[in-house]
Amino acid sequence: MHSQTLQRWLAGERVSPLPARRAGQKPPALSFEFFPPRTEALEQQLWACIRRLAPLRPRFVSVTYGAGGSTHARTHATVARLARETDLVPAAHLTCVGATRAEVDAVARGYWDAGVRHIVALRGDPPAGTAYAPHPGGYATAAELVEGLRRVADFEISVAAYPETHPTAISPAADLDNLKRKLDAGATRAITQYFFETATYLRFLDRCLAAGITAPIVPGIMPVTNSAQAARFSALCGTAVPDWLGDLFENIEEGAETRRLVACIVAAEQVRTLQANGVDEFHFYTLNRPELTYAIAHILGVRASQPASVEAASFA
Ligand SMILES: Cc1cc2nc3c(=O)[nH]c(=O)nc-3n(C[C@H](O)[C@H](O)[C@H](O)COP(=O)(O)OP(=O)(O)OC[C@H]3O[C@@H](n4cnc5c(N)ncnc54)[C@H](O)[C@@H]3O)c2cc1C
Repeated sequence: MHSQTLQRWLAGERVSPLPARRAGQKPPALSFEFFPPRTEALEQQLWACIRRLAPLRPRFVSVTYGAGGSTHARTHATVARLARETDLVPAAHLTCVGATRAEVDAVARGYWDAGVRHIVALRGDPPAGTAYAPHPGGYATAAELVEGLRRVADFEISVAAYPETHPTAISPAADLDNLKRKLDAGATRAITQYFFETATYLRFLDRCLAAGITAPIVPGIMPVTNSAQAARFSALCGTAVPDWLGDLFENIEEGAETRRLVACIVAAEQVRTLQANGVDEFHFYTLNRPELTYAIAHILGVRASQPASVEAASFA
């Protein structure tokens, strides 16, 4: 019986392990994304998250802009505080929805005056259930916004990219043309929508290069702790949720701690595979919770400028 078992194991295909980081290999460059807090409690959570992640010395940290510009004041307050009170390099997300060009330009100028030098330039989404229509007198697309920002000030500009194609794009090729237009208009990097299949992202890099794109296409990493929630969210933004992800979260709906451990392993495997394929820049969607991002960054070889002596109370 035993010998049969061993025989079966020995007959299995041999798979190479992911390579360990080479001695002396530089740790990757990271950026972290936050959303602006809506309440005092969420404000506390955000700043605890920022304090926890700051010692990992990200290249920049970005703050999202709510649908339709709804968080303008909160985004501005958060980004301005980052510029004023921390050593971090803040980046403000800015969208075209619901505002004239002059209004968007004024927001951008406000960022410049607050010391913010990096904008993540996006079109933005229409209110749920409606189709996108440009605001009369507004920027119609992210590419137009990038052009507009170049006229306002000498911002560093990042834009969005979609390894699985933007959900309303005419075709994958048209979406890629659009990405190239945004970069040609003056953006210096793209940050991708999150994805679960690493191969999808790597194939997308091939397509970008074939289209003449040479700017970094930084993978957006979303550590997911709840696959049902991820499926709802992903349906809206066009990210495929593979069956294996659902399988990994099966029957642990009630086990928050187990779900976090599984989430960490899934995301760590993803970033280590990307790292083994040569990718050395990562953007994390933190959802204002630091621990998964911290642990995954650590696995990637990033070390804090001070030891992680205190496990954040916000590991929840
Ligand atoms: C990293 C990242 C951060 C994000 N942050 C925010 C945020 O803070 N706030 C927020 O509201 N949303 C955010 N989003 C979501 C984003 O606003 C939506 O995905 C939105 O639907 C598209 O924005 P875009 O900048 O990619 O638009 P665009 O690049 O303008 O593209 C939008 C669509 O129009 C098509 N298109 C553009 N130009 C043309 C053309 N000339 N001809 C034909 N088709 C064209 C594109 O192919 C695409 O389908 C973010 C997305 C990512 C990936």
